[in-house]
Amino acid sequence: MSSLTVTGVTKVFPARGDGSRTVAVDDVTLHVPHGSLTAVLGPSGCGKTTLLRLVAGFLAPDAGEIRFDDRVVAGAGRPVPPQTRRVGYVPQEGALFPHLDVAANIAFGLPRDGGRADRVEEMLDLVELPRDFAGRRPHELSGGQQQRVALARALAPSPSVVLLDEPFSSLDASLRESTGRAVARALRAAHATGLLVTHDQSEALSLSDQVAVLRAGRLIQAGSPADVYMAPHDPELARFVGGATSLPGESDAAGTAATCALGRVTLSQPSSADHLVLVVRPDQVVLVADGVPARVDDVSFYGHDAAVRLSLAADGTALVARVTGPSAPSVGDTVQVGVAGAVHAYPAPVHD
Ligand code: ADP
Ligand code: MG
Repeated sequence: MSSLTVTGVTKVFPARGDGSRTVAVDDVTLHVPHGSLTAVLGPSGCGKTTLLRLVAGFLAPDAGEIRFDDRVVAGAGRPVPPQTRRVGYVPQEGALFPHLDVAANIAFGLPRDGGRADRVEEMLDLVELPRDFAGRRPHELSGGQQQRVALARALAPSPSVVLLDEPFSSLDASLRESTGRAVARALRAAHATGLLVTHDQSEALSLSDQVAVLRAGRLIQAGSPADVYMAPHDPELARFVGGATSLPGESDAAGTAATCALGRVTLSQPSSADHLVLVVRPDQVVLVADGVPARVDDVSFYGHDAAVRLSLAADGTALVARVTGPSAPSVGDTVQVGVAGAVHAYPAPVHD
């Protein structure tokens, strides 16, 4: 496996009938260290698939450079064609050849000399499927098992980089989580350098070493899952990755605390701006004895914990609190809420 470095890469799709052109990937710079997994996170249409196709070599960038280790595969000079880039690709679904059994699917990209059967068994072990699945046809497997076979096939020829384009999005919720964990384990065991595209923030945070957030073709933030969750680049990203609520606030003279509808809160970093946007995550909203009154609008009980939707009595501000399941209040109750821990703040946008 190689490291992957994308530098200033732009891809513009030409004008269609109405004269509009699309900047699908806009000056993106990203480094994926050798043997690590980066999740590319963003809503539909933000350029995730285009970025993967550029890395794979199915598309050529209009600007910028792509390197596998020190080898330039796209940019100045002649591009390296997809087959010599040695990229493993796992699409959303339907990647397997239906008329071939699992073994033949996995062995598809392997040289026709000895050792194929051993490699197939090694790959089945890696993706945690029983070896006797080798003789099955894709239609005899569940969706999650099919995606594991697709990963086994992508990894079998020892590619430089593995690209996974929303590989779990066709699976239902429970299968999605277990398949996601199995795939992440297999990628780690193979010391794979990978890009995992997803529009699901919990998938991105839980499976990857680095999260790269795309919005309208631009890289908004790249950092560890903890960084992106704890210090999202802007309030919009805070809402996207943590279900956070934004509140207006006024900072105090020292810039280390602020006053808002939830009372006085400590800031995670000092701010020099007077007017702030505070982002409060659900796990920071706590029910207390002497807080700000709020009405309980809705309770989603999950057993070990519960999500409580609240509106503040004073101004109707909507909030979500995460509480332990047994302590959840009932709909219609009036409770007192406060903020636990330091709050992340952004300078308020200036309107003129
Ligand atoms: P995502 O995978 O994040 O949903 P895509 O990379 O598929 O987003 O698309 C990004 C943008 O580029 C979208 O606006 C899409 O309509 C446009 N786009 C993608 N592929 C093409 C293409 N071959 N021709 C023209 N526009 C395209
Ligand atoms: Mg896509």
